[in-house]
Amino acid sequence: MNYDEFYRRSIDQPELFWAEQARLIHWDTPPQQILDQSHPPFRRWFVGGTTNLCYNAVDRHLAERADQLALVAISTETGITREFSYRQLHGEVNTFAAVLQSLGVGKGDRVVIYLPNIAEAVFAMLACARIGAIHSVVFGGFAAHNLALRIDDAQPKLLIAADAGMRGGKVIPYKPLVDAALNEASAPPPHVLMINRGLAPSLSYQAGRDIDYAPLHQAHLGREVPVTWLESNEPSYLLYTSGTTGKPKGVQRDVGGYAVAMALSIRHVFDIAPGQVMFSTSDVGWAVGHSYNVYGPLIGGATSLLYEGLPTQPDPGIWWRLCERYRVRTMFSSPTAIRVLKKQDESWLRQADLSRLKWLFLAGEPLDEPTAQWITDALGVPVIDNYWQTETGWPAITLMPGLDLKTVKFGSPGLPAPGYRMKVIDESHGREVPAGVKGVLVFEPPLPPGCLTTVWGDDARYIRSYFSHFKELLYSSLDWAIRDEDGYTFILGRTDDVINVAGHRLGTREIEESVASHPAVAEAAVIGMRDELKGQVPIVFATLKQDAGDGTGAVAKAMQQRVVDQLGGVAKPSRIYVVNTLPKTRSGKLLRRSLQALAEQRDPGDLSTLDDPAALDDIRRALERGPDQGS
Ligand code: ATP
Ligand code: MG
Repeated sequence: MNYDEFYRRSIDQPELFWAEQARLIHWDTPPQQILDQSHPPFRRWFVGGTTNLCYNAVDRHLAERADQLALVAISTETGITREFSYRQLHGEVNTFAAVLQSLGVGKGDRVVIYLPNIAEAVFAMLACARIGAIHSVVFGGFAAHNLALRIDDAQPKLLIAADAGMRGGKVIPYKPLVDAALNEASAPPPHVLMINRGLAPSLSYQAGRDIDYAPLHQAHLGREVPVTWLESNEPSYLLYTSGTTGKPKGVQRDVGGYAVAMALSIRHVFDIAPGQVMFSTSDVGWAVGHSYNVYGPLIGGATSLLYEGLPTQPDPGIWWRLCERYRVRTMFSSPTAIRVLKKQDESWLRQADLSRLKWLFLAGEPLDEPTAQWITDALGVPVIDNYWQTETGWPAITLMPGLDLKTVKFGSPGLPAPGYRMKVIDESHGREVPAGVKGVLVFEPPLPPGCLTTVWGDDARYIRSYFSHFKELLYSSLDWAIRDEDGYTFILGRTDDVINVAGHRLGTREIEESVASHPAVAEAAVIGMRDELKGQVPIVFATLKQDAGDGTGAVAKAMQQRVVDQLGGVAKPSRIYVVNTLPKTRSGKLLRRSLQALAEQRDPGDLSTLDDPAALDDIRRALERGPDQGS
């Protein structure tokens, strides 16, 4: 079936379409009703059906592929690679589930998982799913305060943590962060289950609270824990959004709808069939990690690669060598990671045999054209931008090469995924805008299977955050978009990333794209700075490639000229600063609000989601030193 037909059916005959897709997974009891939308904006998919994510990801494959690789956990930090067949994965998950039960964890209990990108994170997630416990993975790079906030919101029965993570060869002890978080939290769990990797020099355990996993693992080895069948709409897990725009929201996912969305997307979006290999470079702590390092590939009977380390260590060829060694078919990464590699010598790409690699998917932030062009040329395979949010759980706008590959248009993630009733509407009157006109990207309810069911513990916040922006009941993505004549959608940035220059509304993204199209530029961030005359003026912060050639002053001048040539004089950046790094969230998204605050000499505010606090010092220094272009 081709994309157009597939998508059409999902919109015109949703119940028939999703009833058919539901057959991709195993149900203990089949659904009685495909869709219940009696209480919009809430909706329930596959009502009355009972299933289990762990069963579909693990047990179901034992009959046909017990000895096939299920999970390969590679760490270039410790130098250790661990491979697990489906049979071994089944063993590890059962043992972990038995350990959880021995600690009193059962159906409906929350378990916060604060681990680096290691195999135990996957075992822990699947073990929770097996017994109906609700996991909430907190990215291992988050600081104590972030962890405490999430603990208080989820109120877990157990926290699973590691002694340490590693980054760029440096050990980052987790235990002191855990202790600080539990001190700060008002609802700390009674126990911390510690995965001791032997990395932290000295570990102090609090008697009665902190428990080592290794002896429990030994004690429960070989145990089989029966699967707890859950009604399709019961919660499976919580995942907090990145917090780019404010206080993170606890995105709640269901069981059946999510399983079906994973089965559909791994096949038809990511073009992975059972036995094939998927390499997602994400951390399990992000939405991509949940869906395409764990549940998607495993529900699809594939082999999933999990990677702990930097894309550039031991050298910038590492990812491509892994693609060669494991015969990776589909790779999934982020524009940020590709821009890091773009700063390196391209020959690293040519040294590996990439003949098995068919697709590179990129998501998480805007994919600028120069980066898309560079990696497309370097790899010689289609590069597929896909748009989604933690909330959606899987791509909302993408091409679907598993069905048929439509033309790739740089700058656009493509077309709506099945079940997404996408519209681009005018923010003031709420009506759909014609092709070529910018508006807010919205989805008409019901949201397809896989998307969030609510905000954890706060139905009111779910409605307020997503469905209260327009007169009609519409899910607002809070992103600007524009559709072209062929129905391709271009994302223009967040609704709060618009600047107003002398009455002209300019998207920061357009100016960034223009600046980044200069061959010497690695990455650019644009903010609007208060200006007495014009209201706001665009200010550029840019990083250069390693071999930028000409002096920074000349490059900065050329950047400014480019913007004027491409977007007109009104978009002319009034100042350009060349810097070493840009402030990003831990998930690699540009933190414009902190740049803006610094430029306006305000307190940068909550920096807890910032990846590298040193980036701000770099910006401060640049501001003090003065611009490389403009005054
Ligand atoms: P918060 O909602 O807490 O502020 P966040 O929006 O950064 O955090 P995520 O759910 O991780 O948290 O990010 C989703 C956002 O990332 C999208 O709304 C969009 O702004 C951006 N995004 C994701 N994929 C793409 C893409 N392919 N092109 C452009 N933007 C993208
Ligand atoms: Mg968001």
